[in-house]
Amino acid sequence: MKFSRLFIPTTKQNPNDATLPSHQYLIRGGFISQLGAGLYNYLPLGKIVLDKIRAIVKDELDKVGCQETMLNFVTPASLWRESGRFDKFGSELLRLKDRKNNDFVLSPTNEETMVDLVRNRVKSYKQLPLNLYQIHTKFRDEARPRFGLLRGREFIMKDGYSFHESTEDMQREFALMEQTYSRIIERLGLDFRVVEADSGAIGGSGSREFMVLSENGEDDIVSCANCDYGANIETAIRAKKQRFETESVEMNGGRFQTIDVKTIEELSDFFKLDAHYLVKTIAKKAIYEDREEIVLFFVRGNENLQEVKALNAVGALELVDVNEDELREAGIIAGFIGPQIEGFRTIVDCELENSEKMICGANEKDYHIVGFDFVALNVEYKDLIEVQQGDSCKNCGGQLKISKGIEVGHIFQLGTQYSKSLNANFLDQNGKSTPFVMGTYGIGISRLMAVMIEQNHDDKGMIWNPQTAPYQLDIIISNIKDKEQFEFANNIYEELKSRGKEIVLDERKERYGFKIKDFELIGFPYALIVGKNLKDGQVEIVNRKTLEKITINSDKALEEILKII
Ligand code: ATP
Ligand code: MG
Repeated sequence: MKFSRLFIPTTKQNPNDATLPSHQYLIRGGFISQLGAGLYNYLPLGKIVLDKIRAIVKDELDKVGCQETMLNFVTPASLWRESGRFDKFGSELLRLKDRKNNDFVLSPTNEETMVDLVRNRVKSYKQLPLNLYQIHTKFRDEARPRFGLLRGREFIMKDGYSFHESTEDMQREFALMEQTYSRIIERLGLDFRVVEADSGAIGGSGSREFMVLSENGEDDIVSCANCDYGANIETAIRAKKQRFETESVEMNGGRFQTIDVKTIEELSDFFKLDAHYLVKTIAKKAIYEDREEIVLFFVRGNENLQEVKALNAVGALELVDVNEDELREAGIIAGFIGPQIEGFRTIVDCELENSEKMICGANEKDYHIVGFDFVALNVEYKDLIEVQQGDSCKNCGGQLKISKGIEVGHIFQLGTQYSKSLNANFLDQNGKSTPFVMGTYGIGISRLMAVMIEQNHDDKGMIWNPQTAPYQLDIIISNIKDKEQFEFANNIYEELKSRGKEIVLDERKERYGFKIKDFELIGFPYALIVGKNLKDGQVEIVNRKTLEKITINSDKALEEILKII
């Protein structure tokens, strides 16, 4: 392709809201353009990259027997009512009406549609297993669409669904999908980890996320320095802390006056005691479909409440903060709350079970209880704490470390949740009608495009690898008025083009400096520079990744280029 004919509207200007390199460069390099909050158009270069990612995903999936379909984007709400998700999904689900006042949703994911497709057509275990997928637009009305393609509202995802006669077979497919997704991400050249994950609103039992390591990631991932344990911080667990260096105070369950001593820091100062022996209370409002209530969570003073664990512990739609006024109205004395409080749902972190000699609130203004025992306390115990850097691994005792990651894929062992609610059954080997056992698998195609750049860029622009680069080589004519330069470059261009190579000829009437800046911003893997030295029989090849320039004989140029692209 000739550069002058390509629609690549590059700019020097950073978009106002763009803080991440992928967002800045994809816009500045003319790959995408913003249409509205979380809405992006793909320009020619962006479309090529998207198609390349898509092709790799499809190739790997088809190799292991998955079959591509394409489902409707606009979905009748009746299906979502059948599964119960029409009301449960929350405000990320965009609901709309047609002219006849029928309800629809813009698909954020397609469990319902796929189950509906299969339930009337697959009747016997003999037709199983089946793994169907699509690569298509999704819409989620994200609360904070940001970071360009990383968190859009309209985006492109591969979503796949598998149907099985047994849990064992579904787990076999789940393991196969884990391998396949790993291979896809390896082929894209990304550094990633597969981690245990929370199953969120989609539901199901086991789930794994594919996390690309990046400082700009929104997810925290916990990994062991010694073994292969890895988990999203939302579900990560650790070895229980065995012993503690310092001792607690010796005193038996007594009220102790603590005037205005409320926070963990104040209590720790007041008692000259490590926060390990203090009980921290976190009050939240749990929002359910039909009601809301205040829930009190208790963890050690030196631990933090993990919000997703807390949400799962109460089984609510959402947990929100409560302010002091709301607590007062409910009759709760902030700063002095203890686990013996009555009339509220209280959930205690399981590491506190059986702990002794603790200090907690007395549920009375200006009083705490010193020497409190959890031993005989009748409360709910759940895993609530957030793993911290340096904690010990539950598998091997090694040190846990926390790093930032971007979730690019998520696979779930779904079970029968959707087949049951949507009444999707098949006849098993004994002729008995049984719900399908399902798995579901998602990978973000448009997010991957941004992730490629998060991991591969420098201060000049993007760096594409050959697998995903829109073009492999940019032939830059330094001075197009120089006939010799023009003809030499054009000949190489025609020759490479006839061999089917993905190349661009930059024959624009622009200065050399301008063209090289575009090359660096756009990030084609290589440039061939045809300039002044051509008279002496020399041209240069630039490697975008290393910015290394090598001079070669012009009559060897074609040969050299064919070696690298
Ligand atoms: P996140 O935790 O980042 O919001 P999610 O858990 O909601 O993602 P899934 O429902 O597991 O996402 O969707 C599967 C994949 O779809 C994700 O791994 C991600 O690659 C992609 N994806 C999800 N939401 C978005 C979005 N708003 N913009 C772009 N890609 C997305
Ligand atoms: Mg997810």
